[in-house]
Amino acid sequence: MFTEIYQHRIGSSVQGRDLIVESNFDPGGSIRPANITLVIGGLHGDEKATVALVATFRECCVARREVRTPLAMISLANPDGFVANSRYNASHVDLNRNCDFNWQPTSPEPSGPHPWSEPESHAIRDFILAFEPAKIVSLHWALAEIDADGPQSTGLGTRMWNAMTPDERAPYRLRTTPAFGQPPDPEGVCPGSFGQWCGYGLQYAGGMRPAMITLELPYDPNTPSRPDPLPTDHLTALHARWSEKPTAYLAAVQPAVHRMLTAASHYPR
Ligand SMILES: [Zn+2]
Repeated sequence: MFTEIYQHRIGSSVQGRDLIVESNFDPGGSIRPANITLVIGGLHGDEKATVALVATFRECCVARREVRTPLAMISLANPDGFVANSRYNASHVDLNRNCDFNWQPTSPEPSGPHPWSEPESHAIRDFILAFEPAKIVSLHWALAEIDADGPQSTGLGTRMWNAMTPDERAPYRLRTTPAFGQPPDPEGVCPGSFGQWCGYGLQYAGGMRPAMITLELPYDPNTPSRPDPLPTDHLTALHARWSEKPTAYLAAVQPAVHRMLTAASHYPR
């Protein structure tokens, strides 16, 4: 079981590119599996490493049969942004500010004319509401952290943290939520963010709230410890590292990311 990959089109982008979910269960089957893990890459189109990491993790499911639980993957959530090497979609909207939890018409990043205005965010939302994944992991760069939204996500975040070797943990930190409700402080509110919608705004018909992790890749996989606050040039440093040697960056972060995603997939809820 869970050794075949199914492809399921959930919609299309502003420019008409397919939005594809790949899963190790049949999404057209009569029984929806419980405890699905949904892994998302490329919500920001210029964060190329996240797309490659989800794609190679998908290969592990088939070739190495490392994941034996129901898994759904959207490796390229913003295909137009990926082609244009842009954070935004083709309508210049940040898909990570377009959800309806604390959505604001004006925010530091363009949030769209109204919540869920964009076909990409709309399609991902509808997939989540239909399949009710128990765990959601969305990859980004480069805040270098496991960010667990909502107290129901602490266990999953801790499991992912513990899945790494001490050396692999060095460039990351684990960030959890102390109590249910709003994010812990006003600084922590991110209007319209996907992670906060999943972690705080979403509750399924049966009462479950999904465990939500935003997995922010390190700006420097070889840093001996993650500084707090991050260096002000952390994104510039990462973009330089990526444009010079993407293969080296991927090779450096991939083992820890695969360990974390495998641990997340096997985490029971
Ligand atoms: Zn991002």
